[in-house]
Order: sequence, then C-alpha cells, then structure tokens
Amino acid sequence: MRITSYGAAQTVTGSCHLVEASSLAGEYKLLLDCGAYQGAEDDRNAEPFGFEASRVDAVVISHAHHDHIGRLPVLVRQGYRGQIYLSEPTMRFLPVILEDSLRLMTEEHQRWERTGRKAPEPLWDQDDLNELYRRLEPVPLHQELAFGPFTVRLRGAGHLPGSAFIEVQEGRQRLVFSGDLGNRNKEVLPDPEDPPPAELVLCEGTYGDRPHRPFDETIAEFARILSEHLSQGGKVFIPSFALERTQEVLYHLRKLEQQNKIPSVPIYVDSPMAERISQIYPQVKRYFSPEVQALYEQGTDPFSPRQLRYAHTVDDSKALNELSGPLVIVAGNGMLSGGRILHHLRHGLSDPKNALVITSYQPRGGLGRILLEGAEQVRMFGEEVRVKAQSYTLGGFSGHAGQDELLDWLRGEHRVALVHGEPEKLQILARALGSRGQKAMMAEWGKPIEV
Ligand SMILES: [Zn+2]
Repeated sequence: MRITSYGAAQTVTGSCHLVEASSLAGEYKLLLDCGAYQGAEDDRNAEPFGFEASRVDAVVISHAHHDHIGRLPVLVRQGYRGQIYLSEPTMRFLPVILEDSLRLMTEEHQRWERTGRKAPEPLWDQDDLNELYRRLEPVPLHQELAFGPFTVRLRGAGHLPGSAFIEVQEGRQRLVFSGDLGNRNKEVLPDPEDPPPAELVLCEGTYGDRPHRPFDETIAEFARILSEHLSQGGKVFIPSFALERTQEVLYHLRKLEQQNKIPSVPIYVDSPMAERISQIYPQVKRYFSPEVQALYEQGTDPFSPRQLRYAHTVDDSKALNELSGPLVIVAGNGMLSGGRILHHLRHGLSDPKNALVITSYQPRGGLGRILLEGAEQVRMFGEEVRVKAQSYTLGGFSGHAGQDELLDWLRGEHRVALVHGEPEKLQILARALGSRGQKAMMAEWGKPIEV
C-alpha cells in the first residue's frame, strides 16, 4: 500500500491523506481525514483535492476539529458516494462544527454582496451537508473494520473526546496515522494509547520542537492570575474554542473553586456553539478520563462551576458589557480573529483591573500576539483602544502532545513520516528521531510514500 498527503503536508491545517492498494476488485482508495485549511491558508480550500472524490471508496475520520473534517462537504459535493466512518463522539460534534462553518461562509458571502462586489461561489451548501449526514457511520474504538484489502481500527488519541489515531493493515503491512495526539499531562481526557509497531507511522508534529510546561505549574499560574484580578473586582476574559477548550477551562474553574483557590464568581460562557458542545458531553462520558467519569458517577457535572451562565443571544452578549466585576467571560473565538470575545475586549482592555488569559495558539500578527507583546494601544472596530489590562498566555493548556511525548509515543517505531506541523518544527522532530536511529522524513503534498 502507499499513502499520499493532500493536506497538512509541511503545514498545520488541511489534514487529508489517501491510502491506496490493489485488490482483486481493482485499486482501492481509503481517505484518512478530509480537513479544511485554516487561517492564512484558507484560500487553498478552493483548490482541487489532487484526487477524484468519486473514486474514493471509504473515508475514516480521526476527530471532529475543522482542520480534519472541514472539506467533507466538498468531497460529497464532488461526487463521493461511500460511507464516512468515525467514533460516536466525533459523529455528534461534527454537525456543530460544520453548521458553524456554513454560517460563517454565509455571513462572509453576505458581506461581499453588501459592498456590491461579486462574491466567490460558496464551496458547499446545506444540501451537501444533508447528503453528508446520511453517510456517517459511527464505529466503536478498537473494532476491526474491513474495507477492500484493508483492515482498519480506531484507537484513543486523547486529543478530544472520542478522538482517534487510525491503524490500517493490508496483508502483513501496517500503517499508523496519528491524527492529532493529545497532551498527556492534562486531566480531562484519557492518555493516548500506544501505537502498535508499524512499517510506517504518519505522525503529527505540531509541537515537534519543544515540550510543554508541566501542567500543574500552568494551573497554579491560572489560579494566581484569577485570584489577583477577581479580588480587585476585575473581569477575566478567556478567549476559547467551543469544542473542548471551553469545557476544559470550566473544569478547572470548577475544581479551583472547589479547592477554595479562587473565589466563586459569575462565569459567563458567551458562545452558543460551546453550549451545544457542552450539552453533548454527558452523552459521551465514557470517552473521558477516569477522574471525569468518577465525577459523573457521583452526580456532579465536572464542567459546571457554581455560578455558570450562558449568554444565548447577541443581546445577552452585549448586556455583559454593562456588568461590573468580579466575573469571568469565556467566549469565542480562541484565535481572536472574530467572534464575541472581540467586543468584550473593546470594552474591557482599558481597565487595569481586568485580565486577558490566552490558552491557545495565537497566529503571528494576530490581536492575541500583539497584546501579549505588550501593545499599549490596539485598533478594534475602527477605533483606538488604550490597553491597560494585563495579558497572559498559558501554553500548558495545549491539546497536542509536546516533543517529549511525541518521541515517547514513537519509541517502538522505525520509520516515520511527519505531517501537521510547520516545516521548521518537523525538521527539529525529524532530527531528534534520527539521532535515535529512527528513519524520519517530511511528507510532501501529492507525493506517494510506499508503506
Ligand atoms: Zn485537532
């Protein structure tokens, strides 16, 4: 068999890899992930896949992040007529992610039309999404699936509830695709399972260059920042992604409150999408860590601090500007590139009692980076905003394995192709693997690798 990357090749987003092998019935094509490019590479979503959608026989998905599922509607629109196999949690989260993506695409389209310009044709629509929903086929982790010449199995990757790495066997050859591997130091999800020895591992390298800071230090700093600003009556703004990071932040707020390490204050989640995800969590509780499952057993919601409130409508969201602290606002989006968090910051950045706590990656040149670099003034919604609030970053919240964890996960393997990372970071990881006598290369777009 051979595998070819048509996304996340020397870049972080757009995960999409095609596995091919001959069988008696002819050539069989199995697609692993069909993700969208994000951020600066967004334009690449309109480019051809590099293979014919209608000739793919089956699709297997590692997890529900947009950069792993975002081009599925395009695949269906271009004639894919097979099933899409995924874990049960991934199947439940997928509509929330793709419907939000459709909403953003529609809003963008309307913005173009309002300015009288001809808007680019949307890449997909609700009909494609409906067609896609009919093709979803949930599979339990560890269950063996047979597709043409392949046997496939999902195993826990500890990155999202129900996230998986994918094992593909053809005859005596085995290929492992890591998907995204979770950060083992964290509490909410189980640790990634170990991979079986394989002829080739296609492995992510998002943090291939460095280990994360120990998680207990991260939480201690989080508690210190919260106590300091809340005791002064300040507001703490936490930009966050709706899927997993928001709930994880709520988990730690609840726990710190329980341990009396922070005062109990109103905590507002200002994201209808995060609320939808939170409602799914109790339905997939067996995909969490033993600690979280034990809390559910006791009848405690692990993700509900005492004074948790949701802002549903835009008016609810705006009303939060009128409230005085102490309070916490968790709102999207996590990269500060849009969403309700922006109007909270416009109102709150000029007050020195307030704090911005960043728990996720901030792109170069984005508002988050600018604030963390100590800007005294930023331009938002066409006006200058004086920055008096403190900005903090807590890298330990990362949902990805750090370099030390990646090296440990790959310890039993002899041949690795790296994907899902910036080239410099993948090179550092490749060198570290090479120094242990393992063969490591970087996957290139459209270039097949024989397993
Ligand atoms: Zn991911």
